[in-house]
Amino acid sequence: MWKVTIDAAAAIMKYGVGVKCATITPNADRVKEYGLKKQWVSPNATIRGMLDGTVFRAPILAGNIRPSVRYWKKPIHIGRHAYGDVYENSEIRVPCPGVGELVFTPADGSPPVRRVIHQFAGPGILQGIHNTAASIRNFAIACFTYALDQKIDLWFSTKDTISKIYDAEFRRIFEEEFSARWKERFREAEIEYFFTLIDDAVARIIRSEGGILWACKNYDGDVMSDMLASAYGSLAMMTSVLVSPQGCFEYEAAHGTVQKHYYKHRAGEKTSTNSMALIFAWTGALKKRGEMDGTPGVSAFAAALEEAAIETVERGIMTADLVRIAEPDPPPRQVTTEEFIDSIAAALTKKRVAQG
Ligand code: NAP
Ligand code: MG
Repeated sequence: MWKVTIDAAAAIMKYGVGVKCATITPNADRVKEYGLKKQWVSPNATIRGMLDGTVFRAPILAGNIRPSVRYWKKPIHIGRHAYGDVYENSEIRVPCPGVGELVFTPADGSPPVRRVIHQFAGPGILQGIHNTAASIRNFAIACFTYALDQKIDLWFSTKDTISKIYDAEFRRIFEEEFSARWKERFREAEIEYFFTLIDDAVARIIRSEGGILWACKNYDGDVMSDMLASAYGSLAMMTSVLVSPQGCFEYEAAHGTVQKHYYKHRAGEKTSTNSMALIFAWTGALKKRGEMDGTPGVSAFAAALEEAAIETVERGIMTADLVRIAEPDPPPRQVTTEEFIDSIAAALTKKRVAQG
């Protein structure tokens, strides 16, 4: 299992493009169910680690599935820096009065650097977090690569007015990278890089039309990506792509294996599982391949498949998750997993016949 994941990551690095289906991150139950040797680490984490990539998510929009925020007309893409900060922290429960300090000990033997965090008069808590210049730079490169690939503006937000070294360093590295290597390319593509404070970004995002990439630090991205997913409607309408600083792309659906539906299917029951995000993972990869190979027919096929899928939903043919949130006009008709895919296939065939 571990080797398959490593081989997959190596293949993505070799070929530049990959598609990933949802994988199981085994817990104790899955270890028993599938007779695994151990609780293997998350395949996503392994691939992300090897590619040193950033995950970008974007919703798939259909006219009859309205976002909760009525200003939003286009997808808001989100990029989360998936390294460091509070996710790799070190914490201390302070039991009694004392001094909390931050200490850095240089490896070259020069004297340690110390900062007093707080003089505790009684019990409290203490936390140390970190990030690395290399990881922040790779995050910045992945964000500039993705924005340019999608031809959308890039917004980046931190709280550098408060965190004058930590958050300010994120801002500085982004600006340095942008000026050195992306400014000209962004100008040619007629897109912008824009930095603002995280709270200002939140206020602006709500009032924006969408059609932007919002790059977020780890925690902000964790919270905001879930907020965006639910505001746009359904996890099954959210695509995800891992972009490496070398420009490799791994496409997938943002959701998991939809375990409860699988068990129903295995028990011989009908399911109504939405395959939109997985279809868009494939079309994303095909478009990228078409672009890399200079094969416009491949890209055109992928675009036609995306249109056929969206038109099917817009005609009211949809799975259970969308029926719950769809506009009443046209009246939504709930179909099974297979009927949904067959309807999209029929729409695609019709479209391709019409296109000759
Ligand atoms: P999940 O597979 O994303 O499903 C959570 C719930 O969301 C489902 O029970 C279903 O709700 C709804 N849902 C998600 N995708 C849907 C779709 N395509 N169509 C209709 N409804 C959909 O998350 P999970 O159940 O927490 O995790 C299941 C397995 O997937 C776990 O083994 C986990 O490790 C793995 N996982 C993998 C990835 C990945 O590889 N990228 C990501 C997340 C989770 P209802 O049951 O209410 O219909
Ligand atoms: Mg989250």
